[in-house]
Amino acid sequence: MNTKFIFVTGGVASSLGKGIIAASLAKLLQARGLRVTIQKFDPYINIDPGTLNPYEHGECYVTEDGAETDLDLGHYERFLGVHTSKANNVTTGKIYYTVITKEREGAYLGRTVQIVPHITDEIKRRMLLLGKTGEYDVIITEVGGTVGDMESQPFIEAIRQLQWELPEEDCMCIHLTLVPYLSAAKELKTKPTQHSVQMLQQGGVQPDVIVCRTEHPLSPELRRKVALFCNVKPGHVIQSIDAWSIYQVPLNMHEEHLDELVVRHLQIDNFTQPDLKEWNKFLERLKNPKHVVDIALVGKYVELQDAYKSILESFVHAGAVNECKVNVHTIQSETIHDDNVAELLSGMDGILVAPGFGERGLEGKVVAIRYAREKGVPFFGICLGMQMCVVEIARDVLGYKDAASTEVDAKTTHPVIDLMEDQKSTTIKGGTMRLGAFECALQKDSLIYKIYGKERIFERHRHRYEFNSEYLEEFEKVGLKATGRNPQTGLVEVMELQGHPFVIGVQFHPEYKSTPEHPQPIFSAFIKAAIKYGNK
Ligand code: GLN
Repeated sequence: MNTKFIFVTGGVASSLGKGIIAASLAKLLQARGLRVTIQKFDPYINIDPGTLNPYEHGECYVTEDGAETDLDLGHYERFLGVHTSKANNVTTGKIYYTVITKEREGAYLGRTVQIVPHITDEIKRRMLLLGKTGEYDVIITEVGGTVGDMESQPFIEAIRQLQWELPEEDCMCIHLTLVPYLSAAKELKTKPTQHSVQMLQQGGVQPDVIVCRTEHPLSPELRRKVALFCNVKPGHVIQSIDAWSIYQVPLNMHEEHLDELVVRHLQIDNFTQPDLKEWNKFLERLKNPKHVVDIALVGKYVELQDAYKSILESFVHAGAVNECKVNVHTIQSETIHDDNVAELLSGMDGILVAPGFGERGLEGKVVAIRYAREKGVPFFGICLGMQMCVVEIARDVLGYKDAASTEVDAKTTHPVIDLMEDQKSTTIKGGTMRLGAFECALQKDSLIYKIYGKERIFERHRHRYEFNSEYLEEFEKVGLKATGRNPQTGLVEVMELQGHPFVIGVQFHPEYKSTPEHPQPIFSAFIKAAIKYGNK
């Protein structure tokens, strides 16, 4: 069987959940025994979202091989349970960078370099690239942005050309739109969908399936109308109604026969029904919790849900496996001070201090950590959260009043968190942090070892600063132990506090690897500790 290519585009509005639809379809095809991957093509000009503020673009998701990518890749991994890679996220910036580099090398000598064919050829090359590995039966490509945007045009043109070049049964296009409900008229409106499809058709692309995001069920008449005016078969108008959980969407899509019509269109001889046993088990547990915990998520990007996407999803997975509803209370760290910390955090069964960069909100994080440490509340620090836990203990237990990370205070007399050696000569900001999965060796008699149940783990990283090992002996004397280290470099990856039920700080980002079917062990243990704390 040839590799099959499915393109997912979107219209009418952004944030309709193209990533979730792509991931849900991928899940259904995978559950039918097919080898599937998903890639995201983003029309913006940044090379990657690594240099973007989370307020602009939500979380930056990091892959095993160290790519800083769009957060949709997180959804792909969570739904499919397989790793993505550098090749799975392409931006306009990357496309142009390649073409311009080739131009300077002389690859186009004598010719004018143009959007068509040079840019579109490079887009097509990347769209087909993962197909060349022989590892996948189906490759789903999600195109970011909205049809009609000036910057998506080359991508739509590339899809048009591929629809023309590839055998009909090897390629299809799914277009996601919004069908809004006008409450005054008590009516669902199809006109925006029609216009959006017309826009796609103007670019020469005919969608094979239209998925309509809606808050109310679509009647058969309405589906017929969309089908007729958008030139697709009546059965190919699919409703995607608001779901109680994103993890319910694959089941909704199956009910709408999306996977069935895809395998039929792509002439994949596959008559098995998707095996979603594990997925359903997860959903059952998610629906029927026996416990409830309140967790504070202390960070500085809390106003935007997407900024901590993987952490929030990890709590969903860890909650389900513990049959526990996890209420996450996001708290802006800038607002936390000594005189209000008790009021803000007293009802919490666990406190997580989030990753981050820069000075804003740092002191509030330190105050929250002190509260957790002194009151015996389970604490989990990720990356910057771990670094601030070190700072807090340095100041309050070791008495180093000006202890700090040199990220924010270059002149501190106690640089307990300091720039990593290999970062000292780095001046370029994009893609130069310590990125991707590294090995970590866990100390046998530790809590972290008990949590993972093994000595060697691989977790992903995204940082420039590290624990300053010159201070290790002093910290260990007061009970803050380095229980996980990189076996090659000795860099401290895990710290935990003795004599407290649960204080764990990790330099890595465990949230990137949590999935419904394999909840991340530290998150699960943290929820377990929070349940125990709450029961007291
Ligand atoms: N700013 C810190 C560093 O670069 C922490 C990074 C993070 O939390 N991801 O080391």
